[in-house]
Amino acid sequence: MNSKQKNQPSMKWSMRLGTLAGIAVYVHATFLILLLWIALSYWRSEQSLQAVAQGVGFILALFACVVLHELGHALTARRFGIKTRDITLLPIGGVASLEKMPDDPKQEILVALAGPAVNIVIAGLIWLWLNLQQAVMPGELSSMLQGSMLQQLLVVNLFLAGFNLLPAFPMDGGRVLRALLAMRMDRTAATRRAASVGQAFALWLGLVGMLYNPFLLFIALFVWIGAMAEAGTEEIRSLLHDATLSHAIITHFESLSPYDSLARVIKLTLDGVQKDFPVIENGEVIGVLTQEDLLRGLQEKGALANVGEYMQTNVEEADINESLESVMKRLQSSGGRLLAVTENNRLAGIVNIDNIMELVRIEAALREGNRAFRGL
Ligand SMILES: [Zn+2]
Repeated sequence: MNSKQKNQPSMKWSMRLGTLAGIAVYVHATFLILLLWIALSYWRSEQSLQAVAQGVGFILALFACVVLHELGHALTARRFGIKTRDITLLPIGGVASLEKMPDDPKQEILVALAGPAVNIVIAGLIWLWLNLQQAVMPGELSSMLQGSMLQQLLVVNLFLAGFNLLPAFPMDGGRVLRALLAMRMDRTAATRRAASVGQAFALWLGLVGMLYNPFLLFIALFVWIGAMAEAGTEEIRSLLHDATLSHAIITHFESLSPYDSLARVIKLTLDGVQKDFPVIENGEVIGVLTQEDLLRGLQEKGALANVGEYMQTNVEEADINESLESVMKRLQSSGGRLLAVTENNRLAGIVNIDNIMELVRIEAALREGNRAFRGL
């Protein structure tokens, strides 16, 4: 497995800030644009460096709370044995990339609630601190927003908790709703139901936004897209979860010897549809030659070069009974394209990402058809 790839952030254009409880924290480049924008707008309206520092300081404090919120999800997931790849800060909030969500609905509810719970705890602690300091506290939350930075943080944390608890994907409340539904129906159906609640909510929010506040329109769009993405991901997840490699394996394929010339590969490529070839020696797969490797070899040494010189030697193997879900994860984390599939420890065939995605598309079309008939 390629260790360089494993340490890369889940999102491109992210810079590493540090590590919290063993989880890497990244900040996305667009977040810096937000900070710059805040700084500029304070400078324009107040013309003082102190106001700029305060404005930027408040946003940083707010996003520290967002990181703690995500850490709440991550550490609760860890208690159920689920790792978190990293936490990334975006201008619209934070994302904790959990390896997966728990399959047990009760655990999923706990993981989802842990984030908003952190914000409520932070708000409570600030409230306690302000009381100990005997600060003057307005009774109304809205007047607190005009108060000191700590009072503003208190209100914003309550808002974060409340907003995230809305029962709409991709908010935490949407996950709670899905998990509650999943206790009564299968997970895919529950996700579809929860996603449509999310979209109905987004529509309503969008309408209110058009009438009163354009910012709500932006959030509505975010909720709508999130709900669709979640439903799509879940569909693919369940397809991959249910199928094994035996469904996607290619058993008719051409293979190479490390001593073959690239000229032979050109002929095989032009004769058929295969683009990636396993390289076999003494009945064992010792490498893979992809089309890119072939082209590189042709550029550097021409058609007489040996396959062995240009093949990739980090070939992954998988048993024919492994689920497509775990195979996809392995291919993604290793950055590989082709797997050697074994049955009883003997080479039974090959599989690549394209085959798996083809299978997913076919299965999705079949399921879509079944649903249409059920609805009639
Ligand atoms: Zn959350």
